[in-house]
Amino acid sequence: MNKAAVFHRASDSMCYSPDGRHLVIRLSTAADDISSVIVMAGDPHDWMDAPGHAGGYAWRCHPHAAHKTGSDGIHDFWQIEWMPPYKRARYFFRLTASDGSLWDYGEKGIIAQGAGPADQEPAGDYWNAFVFPYINAVDVFRAPSWVEGTVWYQIFPERFRNGDAANDPAGTKDWHRGPVTNHEFYGGDLRGIIDGLDHVASLGCNGIYLTPIFRSPSVHKYDTADYLGLDPAFGTEAELAELVKACSDRGIRLILDAVFNHCGREFGPWRDVLKNGESSPYRDWFHIASFPLFHKGHDTGDSRDASFETFAFTTGMPKLNTANPDVRAYLLDAAERYVRDYGISGWRLDVSNEVDHDFWRLFRARVKAANPDAYIVGEIWHDAMPWLRGDQYDAVMNYPVGTAISDFMLGRPWMASGTDLARRLAAIEFMYPEPVLRAAFNLLDSHDTDRIATRFGGRGQAFMALALLFSLRGSPCVYYGTEYAMEGGHDPDCRRCMVWDPDQGEQAFRQMLSALIRVRLRHSELLARGTRIGTGLDAYPGFVALGATLGGRSLVVMANRGIVPVPAAEWKACLPSASSIVELLGDQTFDRDLDPGALAVLGLE
Ligand code: CA
Repeated sequence: MNKAAVFHRASDSMCYSPDGRHLVIRLSTAADDISSVIVMAGDPHDWMDAPGHAGGYAWRCHPHAAHKTGSDGIHDFWQIEWMPPYKRARYFFRLTASDGSLWDYGEKGIIAQGAGPADQEPAGDYWNAFVFPYINAVDVFRAPSWVEGTVWYQIFPERFRNGDAANDPAGTKDWHRGPVTNHEFYGGDLRGIIDGLDHVASLGCNGIYLTPIFRSPSVHKYDTADYLGLDPAFGTEAELAELVKACSDRGIRLILDAVFNHCGREFGPWRDVLKNGESSPYRDWFHIASFPLFHKGHDTGDSRDASFETFAFTTGMPKLNTANPDVRAYLLDAAERYVRDYGISGWRLDVSNEVDHDFWRLFRARVKAANPDAYIVGEIWHDAMPWLRGDQYDAVMNYPVGTAISDFMLGRPWMASGTDLARRLAAIEFMYPEPVLRAAFNLLDSHDTDRIATRFGGRGQAFMALALLFSLRGSPCVYYGTEYAMEGGHDPDCRRCMVWDPDQGEQAFRQMLSALIRVRLRHSELLARGTRIGTGLDAYPGFVALGATLGGRSLVVMANRGIVPVPAAEWKACLPSASSIVELLGDQTFDRDLDPGALAVLGLE
């Protein structure tokens, strides 16, 4: 047995309560190294009479067979879900290795079965156990349940629609197709979003994420000048209220973007520091090591030439001191205000992993007090477990799943086959508790990346990637314009003006995406709560099948980005057996080979 690969920790994704009563206990082992895992579990205080044992008593525990939930090819992942009778748990793992050897694994290590004091059998080697002390209800991760049934639509307001020429910034350019930069305005605004809501609703999206709308000199508004005032080029507070109401009337929830890691150069307190230096009452609102602020006597734009901390190395984005009580009060008031007074459904948090955890705990308390059902989603591109323990966020922007699908679509060497993709997704499933994944914000592209139609070099591939994303647990997001397969390279090119005069091909793409969104919404519960399906076929590396099964029904997205057809007998053999297989986008029985470049969204019963 490969002892080095056997790992468990009684916290985070490896031991958690999904609901306040049950406990999920997970273990990782080397792939194909262990033939069975039994979790011996009981209450830590539950003793029973045992005349042959030391002291005449022994710890009472019971066996629970773990099942293998997946593998990333290096590790196998095991799990039980168990209800501790008194919300407390002590447990250890009883392992049977593939070579037939028998081991007990607990906090003290991996010990051959029977090596402990004999009089402690058969109750178990309780001296070598893990403990989950108590399931306290307030500690349980709880995200708003509505998120599971949400398909998001992300809007970059400056480029979505110009609904009011009267608020256009000076020099506003004509709306057009094609490349853009970050140095010109096109007049997009809240009125335009209100006018475009029927379009979003008809697509089927029921959540909107707006990038920042607060006052700022830039097109992207990630350099906030005033957290309590909307940008006048975007509209008025009355229009924001009207937008929230218009969304609500269409069953759409709206979340806004909070940029609390840093402010912009025009932010009042920072302007005061620039003007008054050390004597500014706001000097502790930032991370300033010394005065003067600029080593070379002027602002070079690079914070390595300055004595204050910033976002990246941009002196135009000074980092806020979120440990300062005045800064906290200011930002938390703003966060609460838009939830309480305007009825927004939550916040997306920019560069949220660079802000202290303590601030986010206070943020959560304030926002949830204003609306317990508000959704808090952090911008974190990597493993984000420390923010997802129930005391900070409900979700993060789940770039790891989008990146995995992209790598597969692009045939990257480390993601050369569907099996590789299925394994990577299994590893991500194991990285987080299941309730965290159900609330995840899943995306392929955004204002920070290239657009998928450009990335994958074609509409068919873009749609295939979207369908794979839609098969996952979590709420998928569509970046504005994706419904027309809008093109665009990396920032700023991904921020092009929205298409409002679609040609026939673009309209056809929109119809396909709308059908996909509707299938997804009909199967939200199955995808959120079902047992995951993820598989490739060794003989057909371009093939992958992803989905879930619940109560005898399955939804499977099957894609072939390879160069040969996958025979029907082959793909059927790796799916759950079913008497009925229907292609849900076309509502037709599906029984044929999967051609190169083809995609099928299957309902199996
Ligand atoms: Ca305008």
